[in-house]
Amino acid sequence: MRVLAAYPTADAAYLVASRLESAGIEVEVRDESIVSLNWMYALAVGGVKLAVREEDYDDAVAILNEPEVEPGVLTCPYCGSAEVSVRPLSPAGGVLLATGVPTPFRAQVADCRACGRSHTIAAHPGRAEGGAG
Ligand SMILES: [Zn+2]
Repeated sequence: MRVLAAYPTADAAYLVASRLESAGIEVEVRDESIVSLNWMYALAVGGVKLAVREEDYDDAVAILNEPEVEPGVLTCPYCGSAEVSVRPLSPAGGVLLATGVPTPFRAQVADCRACGRSHTIAAHPGRAEGGAG
């Protein structure tokens, strides 16, 4: 087993562990009992650690680096279709914002293949579904 990451609390460690486990990666949570006894021990032992098998290490790192938003769960706000494709971010700055409103967050534009309309996606974590279909 190889230590992948360390977290200040067991909750944070288990949150990531469940993500890895759902991807089929075996995870070992270490030093959780020590940390839950006394938070000061967390500093002493370096936090709650997640360890994975050597052969799973690269996959686990890739999963940790993945954004929380999964592709394919987007739906069109106009027609509700899931046939939505996200435009890649344009580093050349080819998109001119007609509104002139500065965007405080990174947003992407998605095109609906069903109705042909476009909408902007904001990176809001935790917002999953818009409605029943
Ligand atoms: Zn649509």
